[in-house]
Formats: sequence, C-alpha cells, structure tokens
Amino acid sequence: MSISPPSPSETVVPESSHRESVVDFVHWALVQLQLNTVEQDGVVRLRLSETDRAAFGGQAELRLPLQSGSTDQQLESLELGGRFFTWLLERLKATGPALHVRPIKQPLAVNNISARLFDGYRVDGGQVHLGGCQLTDFPFLRLSFAATESGETVIRHLFVAHDGTSVSDQLAGKLGLMEVEPIAKLPPRLDDAALHSLIAAGRRVAAQSSTSRDPSAATIDPLVATLVWVKQASGQLQFNIEETTASLPFSGWAALIQPQPFIAQHSGASTFHLAATDDGRVDAVEEITTCDHSGRRILRQELVTCSVTGKQVLEEFTEQCPVSGQPALADEFASCVTCREQVSRSALDREVCTACRKMSKIKKDDPRLVWILGEHTGLDRWNRWQLSETQNVYIAQADSLLKRLLVVVDKETLSVHHLATSGRLSSVWIPVADETRDELLK
Ligand SMILES: [Zn+2]
Repeated sequence: MSISPPSPSETVVPESSHRESVVDFVHWALVQLQLNTVEQDGVVRLRLSETDRAAFGGQAELRLPLQSGSTDQQLESLELGGRFFTWLLERLKATGPALHVRPIKQPLAVNNISARLFDGYRVDGGQVHLGGCQLTDFPFLRLSFAATESGETVIRHLFVAHDGTSVSDQLAGKLGLMEVEPIAKLPPRLDDAALHSLIAAGRRVAAQSSTSRDPSAATIDPLVATLVWVKQASGQLQFNIEETTASLPFSGWAALIQPQPFIAQHSGASTFHLAATDDGRVDAVEEITTCDHSGRRILRQELVTCSVTGKQVLEEFTEQCPVSGQPALADEFASCVTCREQVSRSALDREVCTACRKMSKIKKDDPRLVWILGEHTGLDRWNRWQLSETQNVYIAQADSLLKRLLVVVDKETLSVHHLATSGRLSSVWIPVADETRDELLK
C-alpha cells in the first residue's frame, strides 16, 4: 500500500469519531519508532542518528513543540508536508507495511483473566478451577488520516476488524484501541496476503465513510496503517465439588470477559452459586434442598408432597393413592375395611375409604357393570347396583331382599380382588371363602 502525504482538494477524509491532535500522533510515532527523545518544559528534544541528519541539513537535534499551533520559531514545525512530518512518515513506512501495537489496558496473562472469572462464583463445598485457557491475538487495522477541522490539522483513525468489517465506536472504546503501546519484540504474525486484503477492506470502509457525503470524491490515502493486536481468551471453568465436576466454557475479548452464569444441566437454572446433590450432580444452590424423609440433598424438582403428612420427600419413597390420586409416603397407607384396598390414610375415614363411602346408583346397562357381569355371569342374579371406582378397581355393591353383595374387581383384568356379603341391615361385611366364591360368580 502507499503511505503518502495528503493530496490537496477533490479528496475527502473519512469521518471518524476517533481523532487525536498532530502532537499526540507525533508522540505516538516517536515512541513507536523508539527514537531517542528527552522531554523538557513542553519541548521534546530528539537526538538524530547520523543517517537521519541529512533530512535536516545535518542538524543533530530537533526541538519539537508539545503544544500544537506553537509559533516559537526555534521549534521544528510539525506541519503536514513539512520536512519533519514527511521524514517521520518515511521512518514509519520503513518499518514495514503496517506497524504493530496493542492496547495498553488488556490482560496479557491467563492469571489476570482467571482471577476475574473466579471472583464471579461461589461453590459450596468445592472450588472453581481453570480447565484450560488460551489467549489468541486478533488484529484490528487502524488507518490514520490527516484532516482539517476548523483550520486545524487533526489525525482521524478508522478501525477495521480482522474480518474486514467496521468497528463500532463502542467496541473500539471498550477494547482500548485508541490507547496503544508498541509491540517492540516479536509481534504476532499476519501473512502479507492477509494484511493486504485487510488493508483493502479498510480502504473500502474508508471510502464508504467518505462518499456518504460526496459520492464523486476520491478517498484520501491513509498516512499510516497500524495493526492493533487484541487478545481473545477462550477456555473453560471447572467447578469441583468432592468427586463431582461440572464445566462452563468461556470465550471473548480478554479485556471484556466477565463471569457468565452457570446453566445447570438438570434443573436448567442459571446461577453464580453452585452446590452438589448427594448423588453428585452440580446445580444451582437454590435448586437443591433436603428430602424430609431420607435427609438426602436432592433437586427441588424431584420433591413431592406427601398428601398425608405434608412432608417434602423424594418421589421414590411414595406411592400414588388409588383413591385420591395423590402421592403419599409408603408407610402412610392402610387397608380399607370395606374394599380391602390399600389406600392412603388421608382417603380413610373411620377405616373406610372415600370410594366405598361414595357409591353411586347405576343401571344394569351401565357399560362398566355390563363388562363385569359379562366376565362373572353369576353376578347377573343380583339387582339394585351401586358402583364406585378407584384408579385400580371397580367397587360394586348389589342388594337383594335379604342380603347385600360387595365385589371389588380389577379394572384391567376384571379379576376379583375381594368378594363379601352382609345381612340386609348389617354394616359388617363377611368375606366369601374361596371355596364358595364360584357359587356367586358363575
Ligand atoms: Zn374402600
């Protein structure tokens, strides 16, 4: 690419909100070129090497004004196109197609990043570690242009990302692209082809920024191209709690990286405070609780409420009550004296279950009864049926002149769970002995 002084008229300078004075630009260039300068009383004294003196009529030292617009005749002019500025650009150009710098404020070591990330998390009974972290340098291209604003020369910088796209002012500010220092030794490598295509992309962005005001104007050449090398960090955090480990990947600009919430695999909760269940699952601490029955630390979502005791317990310690449909602890079940089914205590009232208490009269052509009578034809001799059902069984009752009959039938198989009779006016059911069952059923 060509680095040349600005040409007059008919060219436009790209707009940019990143600008600095010529004095600041010269300061930067002197530091970048590692020239021998001494600063005193607002004047920079530059010792020239033998080879550099020819450009200044053999002078061994230049006195450069720190304040822009200085009229002191003793001082070397910083004017664009003047001998000093022209020489300075030549020196910059001589270092290669682009200069190499990096933001002053960015983490240079993994330790700086890990410390910031670790602070974001609390791990109950464990620790957070770095499970690997890699720092990679990405180049941002800075093209510097001279522009005149209100009669004064300023330097405008235009930034282009490594993929050739323009960089928002906000990102440039956050990454510190304006506050840079030289990379004196072993700058990261960018091969010539990639550099030239990046510079070409930068010039296209510059042209877009210029022609938005005047489509016919040509874009001025940049004074200098600089690569600002910005570090990106990627890796993963590991949360170790006893024998258990969970990990969380991270990646982003090293200067901007912040702790991200851990998304728990099991509960789906997002958190910065982690803990482990007794069976070794890492989750958000607010999603972990204790089973009232076993004392085990488990996930809140695995709890059910025992409908008898109200205890919050693991589902595996409960069974579903066939009458209420609600879970209850296994030892909170008892047998109903009427139907002999195991039901939760909350479904029992004076040892009789809700299903047995709430029988409904049905007609003989009720499909449920038709089904039962079809299987156990002997029951067809009975009339005046009432029926109730639980999740598992039909409970059917029939009356005759002298007796009552109770039959409890499995809803799926129609097998008889229980068969009993009682006197017409008695409330006591007498189980029918196995030997005499067939007399009633067949
Ligand atoms: Zn019952």
